[in-house]
Amino acid sequence: MAQSALEVLQEVFGYDSFRGSQHEIIETLIQGGDALVLMPTGGGKSLCYQIPALVRPGTGVVVSPLIALMQDQVDALNELGVNAAYLNSTQDWQTAREVEREFLTGQLDLLYVAPERLLTDRCLDLLARGQISLFAIDEAHCVSQWGHDFRPEYLGLDLLAQRWPGVPRVALTATATQLTRVEIAQRLKLEEARHFVASFDRPNICYRIIEKNEVRKQLLSFIQEEHSGDAGIVYCLSRSRVEDTAEFLCKNGIHALPYHAGLDAQQRAINQARFLREEGVVMVATIAFGMGVNKPDVRFVAHIDLPKSVEGYYQETGRAGRDGEAATAWLAYGLQDVVQLYRMINQSQGDAAHRRQQGQALDAMLGLCETISCRRQRLLAYFDQQIEPCGNCDTCLEAPEAWDGTVAAQKMLSTIYRLWRERGQRFGAGHLIDILLGKLTDRVKEHEHDKLTVFGVGKELTDQAWRGVLRQLLAHSLVTVDPEGYGTLLLTDASREVLKGERTLMLRRETVTRGPAAHRVKGQAPAGPALEPDQQRRFEALRAWRAATAREHGVPAYVIFHDATLREVAIRCPSSEADLEPITGIGVRKREAYGEALLRCVQEFQTQ
Ligand code: ADP
Ligand code: ZN
Repeated sequence: MAQSALEVLQEVFGYDSFRGSQHEIIETLIQGGDALVLMPTGGGKSLCYQIPALVRPGTGVVVSPLIALMQDQVDALNELGVNAAYLNSTQDWQTAREVEREFLTGQLDLLYVAPERLLTDRCLDLLARGQISLFAIDEAHCVSQWGHDFRPEYLGLDLLAQRWPGVPRVALTATATQLTRVEIAQRLKLEEARHFVASFDRPNICYRIIEKNEVRKQLLSFIQEEHSGDAGIVYCLSRSRVEDTAEFLCKNGIHALPYHAGLDAQQRAINQARFLREEGVVMVATIAFGMGVNKPDVRFVAHIDLPKSVEGYYQETGRAGRDGEAATAWLAYGLQDVVQLYRMINQSQGDAAHRRQQGQALDAMLGLCETISCRRQRLLAYFDQQIEPCGNCDTCLEAPEAWDGTVAAQKMLSTIYRLWRERGQRFGAGHLIDILLGKLTDRVKEHEHDKLTVFGVGKELTDQAWRGVLRQLLAHSLVTVDPEGYGTLLLTDASREVLKGERTLMLRRETVTRGPAAHRVKGQAPAGPALEPDQQRRFEALRAWRAATAREHGVPAYVIFHDATLREVAIRCPSSEADLEPITGIGVRKREAYGEALLRCVQEFQTQ
């Protein structure tokens, strides 16, 4: 007799209840309906197709773009006693034959396939000869041509609707805007599908955005002071920055590895595997890294360059703290980032509409950086979700001071206005500030800018403060970057109101480096329960056992048990198999496989 969804959740996965709309999604699919699922990273999307695949007769076919990660997904399922396999180009043909045979004889619960593989005649033929319980299309935003993860093969997946009209299909993504959702539904022929849009809030992530000055040093002290020994991801915009930063961190005793599209495929795979399998690795990467990496215990995501959109930023930071325990999203950005990104957009290929869209995306990102209200409120508003101030972001924890920046803005704007006549001379932000501060640089002398009336009128602010003013003027669209290139700054229509004194401008005061201590003390992130010294030692012993077991099986440690599970074992101190049952993350299969070892580990520790 078929098991119910709840029984599968408890017995196979070892969890006691569903999260959010998981149950409804699962029931929709079990009953043969289609679904479109939008849930943040870490929200629990996988169960939404894994459980119906186990309940319905036949094999669930999972389309996933990430060949390199299929092995880990399948290993994790096998550890749970689920019959899962994958078909991809990394296998030799005998292995592929064997998987095909298992599929045809109905032995597989789940089959993972890359889209390009799925669309081959051979694979479509194979699927037509077996029984399919459902199709799950993971990372469904890859079908969006405007998105940053576009995969042309995804466009071919509408064929599943035509060939298998009776098989339920579910598309899943963590990319949330209305636009993307509509595009997914349309391109994947999911017009009839029920939409499930989960809350996008990730309360355990503390968002912090700081001003960049010596960014590598700032990064290093952030890691050393707050995340020493933790796994994390550092995002950079360019390959060379990835290389430099990884090298810098390594020199300073941090176990860092680089990842970018310029490394050969084998090196990338090795670095990724080390990030997943070893503890406490920091991956320094371009945005090429991270999609589908479902490592649950990434404790921080740091950006040392300004991301190009809020959507991308949210997806990248969402890779922190999937296990629900406290994690940090840390971003350092400066004036230079802003100017450079606007320049890149202006100079990019593509039509005006596309450039405008990119410009607006960047405006929104900048708005988030310069906000004086709750970061999370801003972030979620972007996904049409309203919340109260969160209490777990830098502006909530340490409210920034606002000051009347009208006069300062006027000084800056008139300087820009005065230089406008010399357009084409490529005067960047630094030069503007030199003029305001009255610095007699070579450039100033060469162009006789010391003769301007604005020369030296801004000595009441520091260089750093002026950079803050300029950034905020950009964020408020009172200044823009010359579309003709070179990063020259120009006035906008709105600037006039400020220049004429018709509008007051409240600005955010640059705080001196925000100390982590304040955040620690006041932070409300739901960290795991604090362990007593005894429990902590037990926890360490369990972790050591887990590391050895994972190595033996050739799988990442979290595939054996999550930290949360080991922590619960350390606290409850079980003495029999029955004591293990209520512990989260220990299903029937894992109890059989590892129950004894867990108990022995706890006992040995007792008697020491
Ligand atoms: P997503 O694919 O949405 O990023 P996952 O499917 O990887 O998220 O799930 C995130 C984590 O939450 C996983 O470790 C998973 O085992 C766990 N999880 C999912 N659903 C539940 C649940 N109902 N109860 C407890 N843990 C869950
Ligand atoms: Zn907040």
